[in-house]
Amino acid sequence: MKTVGFCTLGCKVNTYESAYLEELFQKDGYQVKDYHQPCDVYVINTCTVTNESDKKSRKMIRFCRKLNKEAIIIGMGCFIEAHPELVDELDIRVGNRGKKDVLKLLHTYQQTKRKQIIPIQKEKGHFEDMFLTSFHGRTRAFVKIQDGCENFCTYCIIPYVRGKCRSKDFKTILKEIKELVLNGYQEVVLTGIHTGHYGVDINHSFAELLEAICQIDGLKRLRISSIEITELGDDFLKVFKENPIIVDHLHIPLQAGCDRTLKRMGRKYDLSYFENKVAQIRKIRPNIALTTDVIVGFPEESEQDFQTTLDTVARIGFMKVHVFPFSLRKGTAAEKLKGHIDEHTKKERVRRLIQLSDELEDQYLKKFIGKEEDVLFETLKDGVYTGHTSNYMKVVTSDEVSLHTIEKITITELLENHTLRGSKQK
Ligand code: SF4
Repeated sequence: MKTVGFCTLGCKVNTYESAYLEELFQKDGYQVKDYHQPCDVYVINTCTVTNESDKKSRKMIRFCRKLNKEAIIIGMGCFIEAHPELVDELDIRVGNRGKKDVLKLLHTYQQTKRKQIIPIQKEKGHFEDMFLTSFHGRTRAFVKIQDGCENFCTYCIIPYVRGKCRSKDFKTILKEIKELVLNGYQEVVLTGIHTGHYGVDINHSFAELLEAICQIDGLKRLRISSIEITELGDDFLKVFKENPIIVDHLHIPLQAGCDRTLKRMGRKYDLSYFENKVAQIRKIRPNIALTTDVIVGFPEESEQDFQTTLDTVARIGFMKVHVFPFSLRKGTAAEKLKGHIDEHTKKERVRRLIQLSDELEDQYLKKFIGKEEDVLFETLKDGVYTGHTSNYMKVVTSDEVSLHTIEKITITELLENHTLRGSKQK
């Protein structure tokens, strides 16, 4: 049997696209194997969001080639898009346009033995429709509803490699989620590059989509992978208030907790806007888990600016902060900024912000000890079941529960690594 290995880097959008391709390959008679093993074909879905992602993407291409010199190597995604010169190491090269056609390109390559190189073009065309009815090996299903970003934050390469905002057909999304629910998925995660911008190109709004999804029979939880604070308008807040199946968790990128830095980042809000919106959200959902991304060591970030960011993060009381040291991306506006911060200072600031995030997370988790929570269980290992609550708290239990199902669990204690233990008994 022919074998294929998928190496997927980066965001949930890549995860969705790879899952779609996995299904296509399986239907074509391929066995999907762990990419650490020798395979006939490798699909490497790359990422370029930081310099680290670049290094990893390049390393993975070489790693797969080393595993099987005769293998057909397919490179696709953001890193490939940002490095069109990368041709020699690949047999098939696809950027962020034409991912859907990878299998067809493979067939052509196998017949002609000629490299298949899809030209990298700024214009990406329409949303590339993909449709998934199951999400192999996962309890929650991702649904990609949008692609592209036109925000052009000064540090970010993504708008250059993903192109303009484009949305998936409204009815197709509903159909896809209905099928996923019929196939046993209780939770769906909506993903995109700029998810909250869904619909701008097709005369729909994100709030309208959420409202329609919430009406789907049998769907228990609806999660949004990430949303910009500027997209939490009144229409969104209304749907959020009226539909408890939208989970008690929002990931809202802050990026910097200091107006001076936000401005230089080209973000489209200031702190007072951000904090006002957070207050509105908390009015609707007092116990909501808010998580965020923060970039530290942005050019010219002074110690005082960084301290302001620490204070802001503590004041907002995020449940968790994903901390990224600033990474200069060639071709972005930040390239022209002066005052780059040395690596040692960046590392130190990363450490301090992670420490704060750890403290905030435990403070948040402790509030739930003694409470009964709905937990969607995902894995069983050595007699321990692990799952997540609506507000994305990780819960373990040794009591017998059903996998891929939501169970009522009483939280009994906080363990290490921000994990809660619970029990089925009240
Ligand atoms: S909103 Fe800003 S950070 Fe997010 S993908 Fe677009 S440009 Fe990048």
